[in-house]
Amino acid sequence: MLVVMQQGATEAQIQQVIDRLIGLGFNAHRSTGAIQTVIGAVGGQGGLDTALFHVMDGVQDAKRITSPYKLASRNFRPAGTIVNVGGVEFGGKRIVVMAGPCSVETVDQIERVADFVADAGARVIRGGAFKPRSSPYNFQGHGEPGLKMLRDAAKRRGLLVITEVMEISQIPMVCEYADILQVGARNMQNYNLLRELGKARKPVLLKRGLAATIEELLLSAEYVLSGGNYDVILCERGIRTFETYTRNTMDISAIPVVHKLSHLPMVGDPSHGVGLRDKVPAMARAAVAAGADGVLIEVHPDPDHAFSDGAQTLNPTQFQDLMGQLRLIAAAVGRSI
Ligand code: PEP
Ligand code: MN
Repeated sequence: MLVVMQQGATEAQIQQVIDRLIGLGFNAHRSTGAIQTVIGAVGGQGGLDTALFHVMDGVQDAKRITSPYKLASRNFRPAGTIVNVGGVEFGGKRIVVMAGPCSVETVDQIERVADFVADAGARVIRGGAFKPRSSPYNFQGHGEPGLKMLRDAAKRRGLLVITEVMEISQIPMVCEYADILQVGARNMQNYNLLRELGKARKPVLLKRGLAATIEELLLSAEYVLSGGNYDVILCERGIRTFETYTRNTMDISAIPVVHKLSHLPMVGDPSHGVGLRDKVPAMARAAVAAGADGVLIEVHPDPDHAFSDGAQTLNPTQFQDLMGQLRLIAAAVGRSI
């Protein structure tokens, strides 16, 4: 259930509603927007009688949410959420470009990447130090030394860091080095991990699973939100279909669908989305045209010798060209980069 407070409802009235919900065995999640406060009631056993709340002072409306996800639903924050990461806003007018290699490989590699992505206008550097690889014989990432290389390179160029956390035990270490914690597609339904990330005080970028519906993606986000971490960014990164000419099928439609259903920012990852370097720019342009709040792009100084995902990785020139194109598309849809 959502309790929508009247404009100008007092703190005391808001607190009364929260206390009532808690008294009835529910968890109360408060969202204070520019105009109104909305309180989401989750957990608890059995249904709630909305009439109990309609009659309380300061309450404008109390309604049941029919979707299975409550806090991820747009009703919870009708105006949308801006996830502010050190001044970089996901969900605002400016589109956030996150770029970097699939894997952090060497100091030289990541320092070169930091230079060319920062020069081209990206504000976040990516790079995996813990890699979920399909084969156990492939490069698994450098772990903490990789995180350190990534953080040092980012610091020198004033970039934010996004990197993947694969399991609960890694959370404290990854939090030390990262600004945004990435949950990979393979872990989208690792509910224990999601619950722990609900307690983390760092933004989480949650990738759509390889075979996950949009509803499942939103329910996974709900795990993090219901733990009290409201800084969740969703990511479309392609899903498995019967198509074999591309690595995955990038579901561009997921972007406007999520924007309608949820208040959370939604970004696109065209690199994993299509899996082939020559098609990445087209999918990145499509994501921005469809309203993505950001893009996550794999780049490398020498993609053909990358430790992982080289085939879908852009070189510096291709990335720079793409940034020029994305600026034009962003302007055409009333945004900027
Ligand atoms: C990655 O970002 O390199 C990655 C492993 O992504 P995904 O989880 O989408 O496969
Ligand atoms: Mn990758």
